[in-house]
Amino acid sequence: MSPSSEQAAMVGPTQKVNLMGLSQKGLEAFFETLGEKRFRATQLLKWIHQLGVCDFQKMSNISKDLRNKLDELAEVRAPEVIEQWDSKDGTRKFLIRVAGGSAIETVFIPEGERGTLCVSSQVGCSLDCSFCATGKQGFNRDLTAAEIIGQVWIAAKSFGQLQECGTRRGDRKVTNVVLMGMGEPLLNFDNVVNAMSLMMDDNAFGISKRRVTLSTSGLVPALDRLGEYTDACLAISLHAPNDKLRNELVPLNKRYPIAQLLDSAKRYIDGLPDTHRKITIEYTLIDHVNDRPEHAQELAELLADVPVKINLIPFNPFSLSNYKRVSNNALRRFQQILIDAGYTTTIRTTRGEDIDAACGQLAGKVNDKTKRSQRYKLDQAAMLSSDSDIIPVKMVNS
Ligand code: SF4
Repeated sequence: MSPSSEQAAMVGPTQKVNLMGLSQKGLEAFFETLGEKRFRATQLLKWIHQLGVCDFQKMSNISKDLRNKLDELAEVRAPEVIEQWDSKDGTRKFLIRVAGGSAIETVFIPEGERGTLCVSSQVGCSLDCSFCATGKQGFNRDLTAAEIIGQVWIAAKSFGQLQECGTRRGDRKVTNVVLMGMGEPLLNFDNVVNAMSLMMDDNAFGISKRRVTLSTSGLVPALDRLGEYTDACLAISLHAPNDKLRNELVPLNKRYPIAQLLDSAKRYIDGLPDTHRKITIEYTLIDHVNDRPEHAQELAELLADVPVKINLIPFNPFSLSNYKRVSNNALRRFQQILIDAGYTTTIRTTRGEDIDAACGQLAGKVNDKTKRSQRYKLDQAAMLSSDSDIIPVKMVNS
């Protein structure tokens, strides 16, 4: 995305440029249009993403004239937190309103020293994976880069991680980000890439490239371009060991079958400057669908030439699906076959059950006015808010 188009995309409802979502390059271009030096970009990045300052008048190393000019032309605006829930296991869930009245959820999951934030890239999703409730409610819109990085900003701010916000509260911190929330990140390529650059930029969040992961269902042409823009980690939502089954679970597979997808993923990993990186394979286990020992064996053979680690995700049932959760026996048996075949294979544990925030199952609220009444009937029981302008949907295993 060119800086000018990056800026154009960031103009919010106030018609001011929202600097929250501009990368270093985008900010440099913005300041050049004001006749200012490029180093202003670094100053702004630090104020916004390290100090958590949104008020230009508080940016003390910027001249009064420029601060006033910024007030006229620009803003620093994060999405609005509607509600925040804390689980007794430390999981924190945010309900976040984005422009237009839609709402998304972002979940923070602590584990030892690590704090992983699962962020969304779209409101809804057009890919309609059969096991995913987000797919059931269709596509609403792409999130802007500001709305994507804003999820990280909000979580970091809530832990006092941004210095301006004062004392650190507890020892929790966003150390890892996974783009595994609502939506297919590669369908929102420019905004996702810009937000990821802010996650990894040392002048912004400075998270290691080994701790930022993009998860895709397999949009091969976009995956083929990804390496030109980022060196973040890659996860593939595979969920099946052959095309026949994957065509049912992930309809995108009919356009980009497994062999093409794995070849593209290998090219991405091979193109990274550092070696020994592995692709994470996500496999949602559904009772009597893809959980049999022969599926595990077929998966082991399929991945023999691909550097992977495998993450098994027990399916979380939801009201619009007839699929059932895998049995514990089948789950352990599946894992053991993969371990015996030499794969590092983990099981995603359920977290934040008391706040309905199990990893891999976010509850979101989406306002899609075109389908409002239909969705209201479909999932009325899942209503999470009395706010009549917000309609809830559930997101599973994206
Ligand atoms: S699993 Fe991911 S790509 Fe598939 S419908 Fe759900 S959000 Fe979209």
